[in-house]
Amino acid sequence: MTDGDDSAARLERVREKIAKAADKAGRAADEVTLIAISKTWDADRIRPVIAAGQRVFGENRVQEAQGKWADGQEGRPALREEADDIELHMVGQLQSNKAEDAVALFDAIHTVDRPSLVKALAKAFAKTERRPTLFVQVDIGEEEQKGGCAIDDLPALLERCRDRELEMAGLMCIPPLGKEPAPYFALLAKLAEEHGLPSLSMGMSGDYETAVMCGATHVRVGTALFGTRDT
Ligand SMILES: *Cc1c(COP(=O)(O)O)cnc(C)c1O
Repeated sequence: MTDGDDSAARLERVREKIAKAADKAGRAADEVTLIAISKTWDADRIRPVIAAGQRVFGENRVQEAQGKWADGQEGRPALREEADDIELHMVGQLQSNKAEDAVALFDAIHTVDRPSLVKALAKAFAKTERRPTLFVQVDIGEEEQKGGCAIDDLPALLERCRDRELEMAGLMCIPPLGKEPAPYFALLAKLAEEHGLPSLSMGMSGDYETAVMCGATHVRVGTALFGTRDT
């Protein structure tokens, strides 16, 4: 099989599983946006996935994403030019000093998690018309993990966002590794409902069907679409 066939088949399989999980939960499949997480993969590996019809992609590093999607690599055109309706989502930790670059590049940022970043994003918004969709990342397992606002700090952070007129679309989480994810997804859904936030970014290759059953509106799937990453 060529890469192209393989990409199309994997994409089809993931979409079918999302549709089945949505159906089981009495939801419409089109309530769920599949974000293809293309971090670490180079442009030539991503092109067949675009060719197979996928339009929403996620990256976790500003500089890497700029190179592949906006600037182009090795004299090849930027991936953004492959289709005019590509959407790019930032799913990795964002440093405040990269806020302006992130606002310029991404259509959504899933990892707003602290007051200093809220401030940096508000500043970046003041300089441009661009308004990426924003999610607050919640440290749902109350772990010492890389990023995410503590559950107890969520109300205050959302108030900061309101003060600075940053509209939040929803919440995002990464459940603790090796634990049954459903209770964490359910907790994120409950928090979003309490705060009147409509979007839920949750579910990765290992648990996206569970996430859809729990109400995910955005699933972030890398490995199931691209294969195992070299790290
Ligand atoms: C890498 C990554 C994913 C995708 O993980 P897979 O297990 O490869 O599907 C999803 N969300 C975030 C935040 C990531 O960093």
